[in-house]
Amino acid sequence: MKGDFPLISTDIEVLWRTALADIELQISPANFATWFRHTKILAKQGGEIIIGVPSGFTKEWLENKYHKYILRSLRALDPEIKEVCYAIGSVKLPSAVPGRTRWEKGEGDQNLDEHWQLPIDESPINKITNLNLKYTFDSFVVGPSNEIAYAAAQAILSQPGTLYNPFFIYGGVGLGKTHLLHALGNALANQHKKVLYLTSEQFVNDFVFCLRNKRMGEFKERYRKLDVFLVDDVQFIAGKETTQEEFFHTFNALYSENKQVVLSSDRLPQAIPTLEDRLRSRFEGGMITDVGSPTFEMRLAILQKKCRDKNISLSQETLHFIAEHVQRNVRELEGALNVLRASPRHSSLDTLSAEEARNILKGILKRPNVNIHYKSLIQTVADFYQTTEKDMLGKNRRKEVAHARQVAMYAMRELLHSSYPFIGRVIGGRDHTTVMHAYQKIHKEIQTSEDFREEFSLIRQKISLV
Ligand code: ADP
Ligand code: MG
Repeated sequence: MKGDFPLISTDIEVLWRTALADIELQISPANFATWFRHTKILAKQGGEIIIGVPSGFTKEWLENKYHKYILRSLRALDPEIKEVCYAIGSVKLPSAVPGRTRWEKGEGDQNLDEHWQLPIDESPINKITNLNLKYTFDSFVVGPSNEIAYAAAQAILSQPGTLYNPFFIYGGVGLGKTHLLHALGNALANQHKKVLYLTSEQFVNDFVFCLRNKRMGEFKERYRKLDVFLVDDVQFIAGKETTQEEFFHTFNALYSENKQVVLSSDRLPQAIPTLEDRLRSRFEGGMITDVGSPTFEMRLAILQKKCRDKNISLSQETLHFIAEHVQRNVRELEGALNVLRASPRHSSLDTLSAEEARNILKGILKRPNVNIHYKSLIQTVADFYQTTEKDMLGKNRRKEVAHARQVAMYAMRELLHSSYPFIGRVIGGRDHTTVMHAYQKIHKEIQTSEDFREEFSLIRQKISLV
């Protein structure tokens, strides 16, 4: 039986594109590009979806690692969907085989892929520096949550290697660390500096490769001749002892020659477990700044910039709606735009009302935590412990109040991914070490006391419902 498949309708394309835009938010950009690039929905029959993938390898990965994401996103868009399976290439349905076990490659499949473009932005990467040319200072929106980090980066631009060395940026996911590293790298490369950007994982891989292939001489040479070395997500080298050792030597070699080192991490050096002390003290020896969640005005400005980049036009009303409701990080803001772009209203987005936007984005908005503002979190915790916001933020040392305060700090860190300094600032102007101490204390309590674990899960629920 040939051609017994329903035609690929626009509905299915839209469904998959919208689901992809949602999945893109939840996994790393590299994984997304690797595993989802050449996928599409081949068929939808009742509650069952068949996703076409380019290879057996991809099929395995989607089945084993991403199935949950795929199912969840598709279901959020269409609750009827019950089952998802994967097939290599295009398929024809083996006729009359109940509980199909086998999918066959159909004829003339290749060209099915060709008109199909995922909403993945192809990023122009420089082969020598490994820098993404799209991430520049120009495209970076500056505001209260990142102005210190931005100012430090600007200062380094005028005095690389000597002023702030190393420069250590930390903060939660999707808050612009990688963007800032690339922006600084690109600007320094324009000054004809020898720049290299790597994630710490790439560094580890390169090291292991060179070690195995007896190319350590080459390895040393490559890194030590740099003027600027940017290492992203440096927390991942923790625990890898030999790599840490080599990293330490590389660092020292560069540092002693006043070459600029820039590092990013999701947390402070002191909070990276199994980071060797000597590396930690190196990391702490320069300038450390955090990036936090963007304010409403920043979110609006970022949306406007990204709309311009992506050639999307949206009404002010819709932009305000998104900026108000997608608060946690910038990656999600961008994801919201991708979801809208992938929607059936694509051609006339500029007349989209906030109400329609809400409908299209409901999958994203439904996910817990996105809407929570730290003020309502503090209020919820205060209510729970029958104290007041004023007491929580003030100096009251009553045991119950102090406890509520610590729980609020912990919850801000856990649920909103706020940085320690930010939490300290908004909870009564306290020092970040106080917050870290509170975080550790509550964390331990959750692990050791079942009663408290339940208590916190209740609080968490209340927070998510606000
Ligand atoms: P992180 O490395 O902190 O997880 P990224 O730098 O990857 O975050 O940022 C995620 C996305 O958000 C990127 O597309 C980036 O361009 C964008 N972004 C983050 N902060 C800003 C900002 N201040 N201005 C413009 N775009 C931003
Ligand atoms: Mg990053």
